[in-house]
Amino acid sequence: MNILDGKATSIALQEEIAAEVTKVIAAGGKRPHLTAVLIGMDPASRAYVGHKVKACAKAGFESSTIERGKEISQTELLEIVRTLNNDKSVDGFIVQLPLPDHIDATAVIEAIDPRKDVDGFHPLNVGNMSLGLPTFLPATPSGIMTLLKRHGIVTEGMHAVIIGRSDIVGNPMSVLLSRNSEPGNCTVTQCHSRTVDLKSHTLKADILIAAIGKPHFITSDMVKEGAIVIDVGINRISDSTRKSGSRLTGDVDFDNVAQKCSWITPVPGGVGPMTIASLLENTLQASLQNTDGIS
Ligand code: NAP
Repeated sequence: MNILDGKATSIALQEEIAAEVTKVIAAGGKRPHLTAVLIGMDPASRAYVGHKVKACAKAGFESSTIERGKEISQTELLEIVRTLNNDKSVDGFIVQLPLPDHIDATAVIEAIDPRKDVDGFHPLNVGNMSLGLPTFLPATPSGIMTLLKRHGIVTEGMHAVIIGRSDIVGNPMSVLLSRNSEPGNCTVTQCHSRTVDLKSHTLKADILIAAIGKPHFITSDMVKEGAIVIDVGINRISDSTRKSGSRLTGDVDFDNVAQKCSWITPVPGGVGPMTIASLLENTLQASLQNTDGIS
């Protein structure tokens, strides 16, 4: 079994991005600027945004965070989006999901200028991705593609089974892996909560991608010998051995599944860091595209 090391790969990628930023600045260009909009006090969202801000600083980006309480109105949030759309100093921004129930997340995403939509969630960018046109790819699936590529894994002809059909992970992942590209050229099966006899599908997977949100859901009896297993899940479970009383774990029963795999991502240290590196890639791309004379 080999580890798909997201932490090391993302550090390498972030160093490359930082070197590119240094070159842009030396040529008189603009420092990329990412803004995160954080609504409410959800600790997981706060932690994700914290990681993104830290990564920006390391890569030489400017970053800013706009924080509002969960009682913010839809109108107020749309006004923040409009202001960021018009703010020339901001190259890209994200509105951290999930949003409070009274906010229409689709309306908020649709209000983002697609040229600044570095999460790649705007319908225009989703459409471009589906058509294989240049766009901002959603950070998590894009990070997984980079992880496969940088570990020299050739996916052509493989049967990929993806569990999950969210707009941010499962759906774009199935589009990217079925593309005529490398990584890509997979035959993709996409499963979800209504799939009958899930195990019959997972056992056929050369690449198994779990994006479910249920700790240790994928057990070793569901995995084919020699499979590549990508664990997207981030779940907090209680752990009395930790000072905090809890720890993060994935959707895969790592200890048992790892013994059967050719490659596997750990949690933490797998997909998570790659997501952040991909967001930085998108922001750099936005900055280069939105700045006259530098490309
Ligand atoms: P989501 O929107 O809740 O989607 C979960 C998917 O799992 C749904 O499509 C659901 O099916 C499916 N599912 C649930 N129970 C199932 C079952 N028993 N059998 C088969 N399928 C089942 O979640 P998400 O946003 O895609 O995120 C998934 C996980 O990845 C979460 O743990 C999240 O925290 C994590 N995540 C990690 C990163 C990262 O950077 N590492 C990024 C994003 C998300 P239905 O559609 O039928 O409900």
